[in-house]
Amino acid sequence: MNKSFKMDKSLNTKTPFVSREKIEEIMKVYPTPFYLYDEKGILENARNLYKAFSWCEGFREYFAVKATPNPEILRLLKTVGCGADCSSFAELKMSEICGFSGDDIMFSSNETPVEEFEYANKLNAIINLDDITHIEYLKNNGGIPKKICLRFNPGGDFKIGTSFMGKPGEAKYGMMREQLSEAIKILKNEGVKEFGLHSFLASNTLGNEYYPALAKLMFEVVLDLSKEEGVTFSFVNLSGGIGIPYKLDEKPNDIFLIGEKIKEAYDEIIKKNGLKLKIFTELGRFMLAPFGALIAKVIHEKHIYKEYIGVDACSVNLMRPMMYGAYHHITVLGKEKQKEDHVYDIVGNLCENSDKFAIDRKLPKIELGDILFIHDTGAHGFSMGYNYNGRLRSAEILLKENGDFELIRRKETIDDYFRTLSILPGFEEYK
Ligand SMILES: *Cc1c(COP(=O)(O)O)cnc(C)c1O
Repeated sequence: MNKSFKMDKSLNTKTPFVSREKIEEIMKVYPTPFYLYDEKGILENARNLYKAFSWCEGFREYFAVKATPNPEILRLLKTVGCGADCSSFAELKMSEICGFSGDDIMFSSNETPVEEFEYANKLNAIINLDDITHIEYLKNNGGIPKKICLRFNPGGDFKIGTSFMGKPGEAKYGMMREQLSEAIKILKNEGVKEFGLHSFLASNTLGNEYYPALAKLMFEVVLDLSKEEGVTFSFVNLSGGIGIPYKLDEKPNDIFLIGEKIKEAYDEIIKKNGLKLKIFTELGRFMLAPFGALIAKVIHEKHIYKEYIGVDACSVNLMRPMMYGAYHHITVLGKEKQKEDHVYDIVGNLCENSDKFAIDRKLPKIELGDILFIHDTGAHGFSMGYNYNGRLRSAEILLKENGDFELIRRKETIDDYFRTLSILPGFEEYK
């Protein structure tokens, strides 16, 4: 495969993984708006991740369930060997129902309610402790397992060379270096035999340097702690953070290069010192974002001080542009070859002016009934949905490798929305 060609191509355009004809076929059964996921892309990408780490015995990706919490997506990733990274009761429960248990589940939570520790323990999940004080919670709620993971926060600023990556010192997660030593002493006394180290220092990173730099930092801490405390570390969990190119001028990460660079650090720090570690990841965005799209139909156009295109989806379906000012590329399906000679704001129907999927976006001339493919929404898209303005969550559909499509979550109905009000007069029927 010629990788550089693929990269160059993605600099000028983004190609939807589905045609307008296929979408029209789907729309006959399931009306817009809906999320569409690309089974082929998901599987290929996941297999490549495993290939990139094939040098590392026991490598495993624990898919960050919060990115795309759909059972069929979890089951699909399971076929490639992935586990599930959970941080709430609902995510644990969904993973359990999908057949994940024991070492298949990483429980990387924070500010954890005690019942969730208890449940994670019941499933024999690998528990990733966010804080030293949680040892006591765990002890009193299900007990301390033989294998445990500790979340590390190195503090200060995280830089790679001179480039600034993030401010761990301002982040609520993880333990300080001294606390790791202390936690290990306590846990050793409680009978823990096997340790793991976890850290998440930067989100949506591009440029291939983040994971190798993080791995190096963590390998060094593991080496120090193994010597200092005389304990066995069996894995490091590099967590999430590998980014994807949302914008046209951004380059995709090269997962094979990332794997190679981590191997160099591994050989240098871990192997050379006679240690052995499994490498775990908890990627969300990298696994799913490019392989999901929000599909919306143009239902209004408005010409005032600016040109507005109103669609049948809104920010409750996709919050990232409103919340982070995030860029999501938009293709008008069937007009891929037309000149982008119009400038529009693409807006939803919330009574909230920030409800815009795109601002001053150059696109081909849009007409009523056109279908928009909002790219790279397969992770942290549907899952961040909410119900503001009484708007309902959309359906999710899986486009299979063979071209079939399958409903993997029905759209919300007014019954779902009123169900929690069924305790009130007039709403009894919505139980
Ligand atoms: C959100 C999250 C992830 C996934 O992050 P991505 O940016 O989607 O890769 C992994 N681990 C933890 C603990 C998280 O909170």
